[in-house]
Amino acid sequence: MTNKYRKIPQVNDVLSYFENENIDASKDLIKYIAISIFDDYRNEIKSNPDFDFEKENVYKKIEETLAKGDYYSFKETINATGVVLHTNLGRALLSKNACQRLVEISSSYSNLEYDLDAGQRGSRYKQVVDIIKHLTGAEDAIIVNNNAAAVFLMLNTLAYNKETIISRGELVEIGDSFRVSEIMERSGTKLIEVGATNRTHLKDYERQINEETKVLMKVHTSNFKVLGFHKEVTAPELKDLARNKDLLVLEDLGSGSIIDLSKYGLSRERTVSQCLKEGIDLVSFSCDKLLGGPQGGIIVGRKDLIDQIKKNQLLRAFRVGKLTLAALEATLFEYLDEDLLMKNNPTLRMISMPLEEIEKKAIKLRDMILKEIPQIDLSLEDASSLVGGGAYPEEELPSKKLSIKTKGDSKNLEEFLRLSPYHIITSVYKDQVHLDLRTIDESDFEKIVQVLKEYYKV
Ligand SMILES: *Cc1c(COP(=O)(O)O)cnc(C)c1O
Repeated sequence: MTNKYRKIPQVNDVLSYFENENIDASKDLIKYIAISIFDDYRNEIKSNPDFDFEKENVYKKIEETLAKGDYYSFKETINATGVVLHTNLGRALLSKNACQRLVEISSSYSNLEYDLDAGQRGSRYKQVVDIIKHLTGAEDAIIVNNNAAAVFLMLNTLAYNKETIISRGELVEIGDSFRVSEIMERSGTKLIEVGATNRTHLKDYERQINEETKVLMKVHTSNFKVLGFHKEVTAPELKDLARNKDLLVLEDLGSGSIIDLSKYGLSRERTVSQCLKEGIDLVSFSCDKLLGGPQGGIIVGRKDLIDQIKKNQLLRAFRVGKLTLAALEATLFEYLDEDLLMKNNPTLRMISMPLEEIEKKAIKLRDMILKEIPQIDLSLEDASSLVGGGAYPEEELPSKKLSIKTKGDSKNLEEFLRLSPYHIITSVYKDQVHLDLRTIDESDFEKIVQVLKEYYKV
């Protein structure tokens, strides 16, 4: 058993081996990769008693890794889960345009903080603001690193040492034990929770208002839906209450769409501009959820309030980089032509993909697999994919999946696909491995077939 560890070569052996191999990589890179591959082998030896190998395999693995340039820890994956905005898999995919702008802006000097007309220092917070105003009807806007930062900054700027009233029904936890309420508390505002989890009335807010109250806060209940005996206070009702009382109504819209997605088969949700029309003073939302852009958070609304946020010194800690701004601007410009947007923005394209198109893809992939691996137990089935990212919690999008029936080794197959060079992420149900076609691009079909062929040894 310990002998297996001895088969792992020494770093120096690897270096002299590659000296003779005429390979185009520095000693340090070879060393770095060798050490990480040794670790993989040690872990495998430890966890799998049946695992065996020859010294040659280790050299070969290092050589392959070098040749493919496959040494970054940040890897591309194939999302076969059907969850379009999968936070663990990087949420929204950028459009081609957005990617191109990223490259252009980051490989050249830019006017990030330079006023080209005046020939002097400008503000990065001016970038992208006009297009956001155009698309949402907002008076002003500001972009920060993510929506959590946006919520924090709104309250830190406007309700520090003051009270913020929020409904218990809107105190959401969104994945990875991140609670919006904790972020809000850390901003220095005092959170006053009102109502019950399933029902909150206007009078619950009303009763808590005193001279310390500054904000009535609404939070989109992103990832759950209260059904049955349920009541929440609407934005116009809150606005009415706030009137004449010098109170602000702020809303964390979470996923926040700037177009109405109900015409693409999703249920109707309030868009950003609707929230503003209802009188919400500031609305914040993520850029990498339904918007389909890079990670970021946008605050839109009253100019006088955005001006106050701009003066907050903490803004510096949450400021966005040029990569974000470049990708975000290109993403937003695509909203000027909704037909093209639905084709070119990967997130919106996948969310609105007609079932017939998904089925066509499923048939194509099924036939490609069956042609190469006739013995595979594979069926095309109905599925339901999710929007994800806390958007449309209750909404399952009808989809199609390929279900591979295994002989009790579905976990093995799942792992093989996941650890393959293409990192295919699937879901497992009992003895089946599922590939939902909504989130798989046709350009990845060959790769999936290739990995399956290896698994089935054909
Ligand atoms: C996703 C979400 C957030 C956090 O947004 P990030 O952009 O991930 O920081 C905050 N609030 C709600 C309601 C959300 O859905």
